[in-house]
Amino acid sequence: MNERQSINQDAQTMLRRAHMEGIDTVWERLAAQQPQCGYCLMGVSCRNCSMGPCRVDPFGEGPQRGVCGADADTIVARNLGRTIAAGAAAHSDHGRDILEVFLETAKGETSGYEIKDEAKLRALAATFGLEDGDRPIADVATDLADAMLEDYGSRKDRVGFANVAPEVRRTLWDTLGITPRGIDRETVEMMHRTHMGVDNDYVNILLHGLRTSLSDGWGGSMVATELSDVMFGTPQPIMSTVNLGTLKADSVNIALHGHNPLLSDVIVQAAKDPELVALAEGMGAAGINLVGLCCTGNELLMRKGVPMAGNHLMQELVIMTGALEAMVVDYQCIMPSVTDVAKCFHTRVISTADKAKFPGATHISFDPHRGLEIGKQIVRTAIEAYAERVPERVLIPGEPLPMMAGFSVEAILGALGGTPEPLVDAIKAGHIRGAVGVVGCNNPKIPQDKGHVTLTQRLIENDILVVVTGCAAVANGKAGHMVPEAADLAGPGLGTVCRALGIPPVLHMGSCVDNSRILVLAAALANYLGVDISDLPLAGAAPEWYSEKAVSIGAYVVASGIYTVLGVQPPIFGSEHVVNLLAEGLEGVVGATFGIEPDPEKAAVLIRRHIEEKRRALGLPFIDPETIDVPATVGAGA
Ligand code: SF4
Ligand code: SF4
Repeated sequence: MNERQSINQDAQTMLRRAHMEGIDTVWERLAAQQPQCGYCLMGVSCRNCSMGPCRVDPFGEGPQRGVCGADADTIVARNLGRTIAAGAAAHSDHGRDILEVFLETAKGETSGYEIKDEAKLRALAATFGLEDGDRPIADVATDLADAMLEDYGSRKDRVGFANVAPEVRRTLWDTLGITPRGIDRETVEMMHRTHMGVDNDYVNILLHGLRTSLSDGWGGSMVATELSDVMFGTPQPIMSTVNLGTLKADSVNIALHGHNPLLSDVIVQAAKDPELVALAEGMGAAGINLVGLCCTGNELLMRKGVPMAGNHLMQELVIMTGALEAMVVDYQCIMPSVTDVAKCFHTRVISTADKAKFPGATHISFDPHRGLEIGKQIVRTAIEAYAERVPERVLIPGEPLPMMAGFSVEAILGALGGTPEPLVDAIKAGHIRGAVGVVGCNNPKIPQDKGHVTLTQRLIENDILVVVTGCAAVANGKAGHMVPEAADLAGPGLGTVCRALGIPPVLHMGSCVDNSRILVLAAALANYLGVDISDLPLAGAAPEWYSEKAVSIGAYVVASGIYTVLGVQPPIFGSEHVVNLLAEGLEGVVGATFGIEPDPEKAAVLIRRHIEEKRRALGLPFIDPETIDVPATVGAGA
C-alpha cells in the first residue's frame, strides 16, 4: 500500500507510522472522498450564481444547459478561465509582496534586507526602458519599483517584461489580442467575463485565459523571480542535501514552508545569531538546523544551500518524525491539516502572513520593517519547543542525499561562457536532442514522485536536457538525478556534455514562480537563433500537478509556444470542443498545444516525438518520430 502512495523510502516509513498511530494524511482523506463528483471531474458543474448550482449531463441524457442557458462549452471554459485566474493571482500577489518590500528597501525602510545584485537591478531597469546613466542604485530601484507597480494596474498596454519575449512572439500576441496589459487587470477581467451573462463564447474565454496566464508568466511570476534575485542574490550552482534525513536528531529543527522568501531569508540570518545558538545549546541541542519544504525551501536551497526536507506530500510526514520543533509557513500549498498532525507531536506551526492564517497555529505577523527581529522571535519560539520534544518519539528515516541546485539563467549562460552558443551547437549536432521543463506539484492521485522521476529518467537517457522547478525538482533530487555523477544516467551525448561542464543532466531552476526563468532561457535561445520559441525543440511537463497555479503555468508555457504534457487529467472533458481546442486547435493559434498522458512512459514518448518533429522542421538531424515508442520491456517486469 505504501508503495502505491509514494516511491520514496522515507515517506513509506512515515506512512507506516501514520497507519500504526492512526494519524490521518492526505492519502486517507483522498480515499474518504471517493467517489469524487463526476460532473466536477469533467468540468461541467457551475456555481457561479444562485440560480444554480447547475450541471450538464456529459452523456446527453440529463440537462444540457444550466438554468441561465450556459452549455457545456461555456461552463467548462468559464471554470478553466477562473482556475487560470486564481493561479495567476497567487503568483502575482506573491510578486507584489516582494515588490513592495523591494521598494521599501530601496527607500531604506526595512530591516534585514538589502540590494544584493546591483548588476541585475541595472539590467532589469534597462529591460523596462529606464535610463540608468550610473545613477545611485536606490534611485534606479525606486524607479524600477514604480514601473513594476504600474504593470499591476491598467495604465499600460503591455507589461514591461514582455520586452524579453522574441519580437515574433510579441507580434503574434498582439495579432491575437492576448498581449498581457496589466497583471491584475487580466485576472480581474477574467472574473468579470466569467460572471453569468458576460462572455459565453468558449474560444473567446480561453483566449483571455491565455492572456491572463501570460500576465503571470511574463508578469507577476517574473517580478517575483527577478526581484528575489536582486534582493537575495541570483542563484549560482550550490551543493546541498535532500529528504527527511536532513533533519538532525540532536538539533532544534525548523522547517520553512510555503513560497515567499521574504521571511525565510531573515530566519536564515536569525538562526545564526550567537545568542540564539547559545540558547539552543543551553537547552541541550547541538545547534539550530533549518530545512526547507516546497518552494520556500527551493528559494533557500538555491541561494543559501539550505537542505530540502521534501516536497508537497511530505509536509505532514515531516512533522511525524517527532523531531520538528517548528514549521514556519508563509502561503500557498500549506495543507490546513498540518496543525492537526502537529497536535500529535510537540511541533509548533507558526503562520506569518496576515493573508494566510491557520486555525491551531501560532500567528506571528510578518513586518518587513522589523524583519530580523521577527525572525529571531520565531527561532526563539522553536528553541523553546525543543524542551517538549519526546526523544523516544524521534524517527528520522534514512540519510540525506546530495543534490545540486541554483541554475539560474545567468548561471547556465555563465557555465556556457556567457552565450547560448555551446548549448545551441550541442542541440544542432544532436548531442542534446532538446530541452524539457519538468515542473509542478505532487498529487496524491499519483504515487508520490513516480511521474516526475520516471519521465525525467526517460528523457535524459534519450539525450534530452531536463530543467526542473518546484516539487518536481525535489523529486528528482531525491532520485539522485541532480548531482554531476548523474551524467552516467544520461544518454551518451548529454552525458558527455554534462561531464565536460561538471553539471547534472537535470538542472534545478528554482521555485514555482521561477518557471519564468524557463521562459527567459527559451527566449534567449530563440533570439540567438532568430526564430520563435515555438520553433525550438522544447517541451514542458507537469506530471503530478494539483494546483491552480500549475494550470496558469501550463497555459503561459503553451501561450509562449511550448508544447506541454499534463499527467493529471484537467476538468475539461465535459466539452469536446474545449478539449479539441486545447489539444489540437491551439497549434494553429499559438504554435503549441496541451497533451494529457497519465503514464509517464507514454508521456516521454509524446515529448520525444514532438522534439524530433521540431528538429526535422529546423533541418537538424532527427530520429523518425514514428519509430519512437515505449520499449516493449517497460511494464513487462524487465
Ligand atoms: S451561471 Fe448559469 S450555469 Fe452557472 S450556476 Fe448560474 S445559472 Fe447555473
Ligand atoms: S510545485 Fe505545486 S505543490 Fe509544489 S510548491 Fe509549487 S504549486 Fe505547490
